Amino acid sequence: ARIAELDARISVCRACPRLVQWREDSARGKRRSFEAQPYWGRPLPGFGDTFPKLLIVGLAPAANGGNRTGRMFTGDQAGDWLFRSLHRIGVAAKPTAENTADGQKLFGARMVSAVRCAPPANKPDITERDCCAQWLDAEFLAVQRWVRVIVALGSFGWDASLRMVRRTGGTVPTPKPKFGHGARAELRTADGQAVTLLGCFHPSQQNTFTRKLTEPMLDDVLTTGRDLAGL
Ligand code: SF4
Repeated sequence: ARIAELDARISVCRACPRLVQWREDSARGKRRSFEAQPYWGRPLPGFGDTFPKLLIVGLAPAANGGNRTGRMFTGDQAGDWLFRSLHRIGVAAKPTAENTADGQKLFGARMVSAVRCAPPANKPDITERDCCAQWLDAEFLAVQRWVRVIVALGSFGWDASLRMVRRTGGTVPTPKPKFGHGARAELRTADGQAVTLLGCFHPSQQNTFTRKLTEPMLDDVLTTGRDLAGL
C-alpha cells in the first residue's frame, strides 16, 4: 500500500520546470517510429518486487524509453540489456521489456532511478538531482527492511545510492568509496541492516557500443548481487 501510494504521488510530480517541459515535449514531438503510440510523458515510479532484496539504481528515464512506455528501463537499448541479463540469471520473468502490459516481472528485485523524469541529453542538473532525491529516499524507506544488495548503474547511480543511504539515516564508509565496475562497499541502513553496494557500468549505448561493458560483465555483477542478496 505504501508503494502504491508513493507511485501515485511520484507520477504527478512537477517540481522541476526544465524536466517537466522536456518530458512533455518529448511526448509531443515523438520519434517517427513511435508516432502511433501514446507517450507516458510523466515521472516514472519504481518497477519490480515490493519486497526487494536487490535494488537496482539507475540514472533517469530515456526520452523515448521509459518516458514513452511508462515503465523504468522499458523500451530502450539500456533496458534491453538489463532485462536480458536479469532473465539469464533468473531474476526477470522474460528477456524483453516492451510495455507495461508485456507480463514482465522481477523476482526479489526492484528497479528505481535517481531522477524520475527524462532529462535532456540524459543529464539532470544538480538542482534536479537533489529535488528528485525526495522520491528516491521515500522509496528506499519503504523497502529498506528487505534490501540486502544495491546494484548502482554508473557513477551517478553509485553516488545517488550512497547519498540515499546517508540521508535516510544509514551509514556509509568514509572516505567515500570509489565507483568502478565490480566495486563493492558495505553500508548499513538506519535500522542497522547490512547492505552491500555493488558498482556496475551503466548499460548505456555509449558503454555497450564501445564494449566498455559486455554482456558477460553485466551478468557477472548482477549474479554477484543476486547471490549476495540470497535470491
Ligand atoms: Fe519531480 Fe523528480 Fe520529475 Fe523533478 S525529476 S519533476 S522531482 S519526479
